[in-house]
Amino acid sequence: MKILANDGISKSGIALLENAGFEVITTKVAQEQVANFINNNQIAVLLVRSATKVRKELIDACPSLKIIGRGGVGMDNIDVDYAISKDIQVINTPASSSNSVAELVFAHLFSGVRFLNDSNRNMPLEGDTKFDQLKKAYANGIELRGKTLGIIGFGRIGQAVAKMALGLGMKVIASDTFVGKATITLEFYNHQSIVLEIETEPMEDLLKHSDFITLHVPAQKEGYVIGKNEFDVMKDGVGIVNCSRGGVIDEVALIEALDRKKVFFAGLDVFENEPTPAVQVLMHPQVSLSPHIGAATVEAQDRIGTELAEQIISLLQH
Ligand code: NAD
Repeated sequence: MKILANDGISKSGIALLENAGFEVITTKVAQEQVANFINNNQIAVLLVRSATKVRKELIDACPSLKIIGRGGVGMDNIDVDYAISKDIQVINTPASSSNSVAELVFAHLFSGVRFLNDSNRNMPLEGDTKFDQLKKAYANGIELRGKTLGIIGFGRIGQAVAKMALGLGMKVIASDTFVGKATITLEFYNHQSIVLEIETEPMEDLLKHSDFITLHVPAQKEGYVIGKNEFDVMKDGVGIVNCSRGGVIDEVALIEALDRKKVFFAGLDVFENEPTPAVQVLMHPQVSLSPHIGAATVEAQDRIGTELAEQIISLLQH
């Protein structure tokens, strides 16, 4: 049986699948050629990340497909219900990237409180005399320890972020439309652990009391999670991180809030316009950007490949 991994798959995933007798093709086929390629090669499993779109038309054009697999969490690029209605199984790897995304949140938070994105752009060249001036400009950094982190969306990634925040000595407030409370286990290198229960709170309280706010919600069917009204309720000088989905923050309201210093900095891995962020976002000195790389670590990609392979083997060989 043939598998097309159109957006790539880890070596560990390929090895598991090949050992189980599957042929794995990792050629990157252009979106408009995918249907032809699948039909010409009688592909049974199509694996994608976020780049390849698997819409109704593609599903209709490919009767050989038995499984569509998404390496990662968000299924917005796949017409899931339609595929299921055509007896195609749709799988993803929800837990494999949580730790990597959570670490990227802290990369943005630490960068924000110590001005790293801006200082990188402004370091002096040899002979430049502005060093003292720069030192002064970047001298008012703050610590994360002791501050309050508001986590909007308290699912897998939100809870992974909470663990790291607690480890740093931060206070955590979480808000979720569905989750009422979660048990967080902090595990230490010496195998000791501490178990804490965190109850979620109303969004309004989170917005009012957080020094930093991070979003971990799925793409919303309608409306922004954070728009002008929400910014107005927040503390002055709050820091915002979004490593979830573009479109959950109103970027026009964000830029306005940054300009009036309501928001002190924003760290964004995802944007309303992907892959190219709006120029106002791109050029803002208080915004630190990363190109949707939350899950792009060696460890997460390894777990994603392995998890996909195990599911395929279990579905097609039992
Ligand atoms: P999850 O389903 O475990 O958790 C999401 C939580 O958000 C749920 O508990 C849900 O009840 C809650 N929620 C939904 N709408 C809400 C709202 N309006 N207000 C408050 N809570 C709300 O998902 P997860 O695995 O934690 O992933 C979270 C997000 O991270 C997803 O959008 C996913 O696509 C994204 N993600 C991004 C990257 C990246 O590369 N940056 C990688 C992986 C996942």
